[in-house]
Amino acid sequence: MPDDRRRWFEQSKGFEARSRPPARDDTPDLWTRCPSCGETLFNETLAENGHVCPSCSHHFRIGAAARIEQLCDADGVSFHDQTLRSVDALRFVDSKPYGKRLRTTVERTGMNEAFRSASATLGGLPVEICAFEFRFMGGSMGSVVGEAVTRTFERAADRRVPAIVVSASGGARMQEGVLSLMQMAKTSAALARLKDDARMPYISVLTHPTTGGVAASFSMLGDLIVAEPGALIGFAGPRVIKETIGQDLPEGFQTAEYLLEHGLIDAIVPRATMRPFLGRVLRQLTGAPSASDAAAPTA
Ligand SMILES: [Zn+2]
Repeated sequence: MPDDRRRWFEQSKGFEARSRPPARDDTPDLWTRCPSCGETLFNETLAENGHVCPSCSHHFRIGAAARIEQLCDADGVSFHDQTLRSVDALRFVDSKPYGKRLRTTVERTGMNEAFRSASATLGGLPVEICAFEFRFMGGSMGSVVGEAVTRTFERAADRRVPAIVVSASGGARMQEGVLSLMQMAKTSAALARLKDDARMPYISVLTHPTTGGVAASFSMLGDLIVAEPGALIGFAGPRVIKETIGQDLPEGFQTAEYLLEHGLIDAIVPRATMRPFLGRVLRQLTGAPSASDAAAPTA
């Protein structure tokens, strides 16, 4: 196909996310184009850099398993609830039946649902952690994801250890209707027990995007709420808000930076420093000795 026709075809189909390598090298799986700065990046280099663009620091989305691997100590990660699967209780049909959508998503992603949860250690401290998988139906929270988040908080309360949830979600899963919406209350109630009864801290990590019912429940209830740079965080999307209020929105509206400036989150932490940051904060919140203290000989 001539180049100008290919360009027209790709533009008309919205094929912009994937880079096209130089014409002499037709191996697109080796390269990714940064949507922020346009740089063409070696996938291997990108992976070595934690999926952060080396040129402009754009944070690419990463999966739940990679997230837990990045944040937690290599040994001692014990996954939970990976066999839980959603059912189509409402026999819901949108552009295709929900049951079929679930089956094809399971096949495509190799995951049973939109999360990974684990008992783990971070900087040597025990934690319960749950991370969202955006590739699985936009990280949407149905009854299984809500149950997984609830169990994360309950395990943390039982073990009297801190909880961490890394959100990346389009919100409640509309195909499950009210069964999905009730997860907002259920997760929040479990979190209240973690804080009030077990008196253990919960750190919420917001990544791009954290929206809808997830943003409107446990994601914004952290004792500490941190976000990755540039993450979109909000309930309804900017287009809906703009159309509802009939006004232009301020620049940077709903970005992590905007939320920090307006006091809705506590910190923006680049991915490369998230792990040491969380380790430090966990020690401060739980009163555990610092790593250097712990290593020092006792008198
Ligand atoms: Zn870039």
